[in-house]
Amino acid sequence: MLTSNAFAAASTGSPFYGSPPDDHHAWAIHDQNRPQPIRITPGTLSSADKPGQPPSDAIVLFDGTHASLAKWESDPKNGVAGPTQWIVNEGAMECVPKSGYVRTKDQFGDCQLHIEWAAPKTVKGDSQGRGNSGIFLMGLVEIQVLDNYDNPTYADGFAASVYGVNPPMANALRPPGKYQMIDIVFRRPVYKGGKVLDPGYVTVFCNGVLVQDHTPLEGPTGHMKRTVAGPLPEKGPLKLQDHGNPVRFRNIWYRPLPPRTVEGNTDGWLSKEAAVAKRRETAATLRSNAAQLATDSDPQMFRLAESLVYDKDSATLRKVEQLAGQFANRMKALSSADRANKKDEITFGLKAFQYLTTAEIVPAGFGPKKTLEQIVQTEGWDKEKKK
Ligand code: MG
Repeated sequence: MLTSNAFAAASTGSPFYGSPPDDHHAWAIHDQNRPQPIRITPGTLSSADKPGQPPSDAIVLFDGTHASLAKWESDPKNGVAGPTQWIVNEGAMECVPKSGYVRTKDQFGDCQLHIEWAAPKTVKGDSQGRGNSGIFLMGLVEIQVLDNYDNPTYADGFAASVYGVNPPMANALRPPGKYQMIDIVFRRPVYKGGKVLDPGYVTVFCNGVLVQDHTPLEGPTGHMKRTVAGPLPEKGPLKLQDHGNPVRFRNIWYRPLPPRTVEGNTDGWLSKEAAVAKRRETAATLRSNAAQLATDSDPQMFRLAESLVYDKDSATLRKVEQLAGQFANRMKALSSADRANKKDEITFGLKAFQYLTTAEIVPAGFGPKKTLEQIVQTEGWDKEKKK
């Protein structure tokens, strides 16, 4: 139920509604002050023949053109990077065997990454020798690229494995020559003072099938040796592997992800300090908003009351008590006919004051609440059926 009321003009509903913010949550349940999600235009899905369109906020790393190949460079083990020797072939970036890995000039960390790859149509080699390449997140964590359509290998080296760490949960591959649609959600590890706050995770979909489910990272992946979890750099390039096979890639884009709660996002379950800080910030915004409204008006009183839900500031509390008392007495002094005209305001006020009581922002015996309850009883509004 949302109450449409002039007193709640800054929001689309009543601010006095769901469970209030608490020690570990900066927002109330159904909080009207919580920011709206940012609008973007979604892309289109790829088909076997045609790559789709990235969403509007994606950073495109390769779109099939030579121009976008310039966003990549060679990745020499030693020495200086130069232009990549990989080629553009039929709208794809194709590995030229023995030319070396490639990497993006762009560096990034947490992301949603979309990438499509196709193993050579002509099947050659077996196990790790057939259509091998790799998607190296931050240049360090390999999501394996391998033609495993009909080609067994060690499970932790399978296509869409976190290489050497975790096999995919299914083999959802298309035949060689066909494009595989890979979608990855990557979260780097977060450490503070040598303590792990979040080990970092990778989630992978292969052709729309979930194959890595929030798999914890175990450091940079490697060959033969067990790796150890630890901090990674802030960002790194995306690298693609030259494993001696002419694997093709197309439609490569990513979206940087917002920080997690442990990095300062205020949407989740927070530490007490973080919750208090965000609640104070919201209260300050509401108070500055209240200062724009007519002095000592009812809307100003309700806006200030709303701020108390986030931060129980004593000067604001005294002001609200004073103005709420005046509001209730003014309603009490009205004739029954005039009260009927003010029914929305009175019931809104009652709900607000009941909310402040329940949230223990004002005492249980809050005078203005009692006054409004009496009015509602006298007018018989409490006996009306709820719409
Ligand atoms: Mg590989």
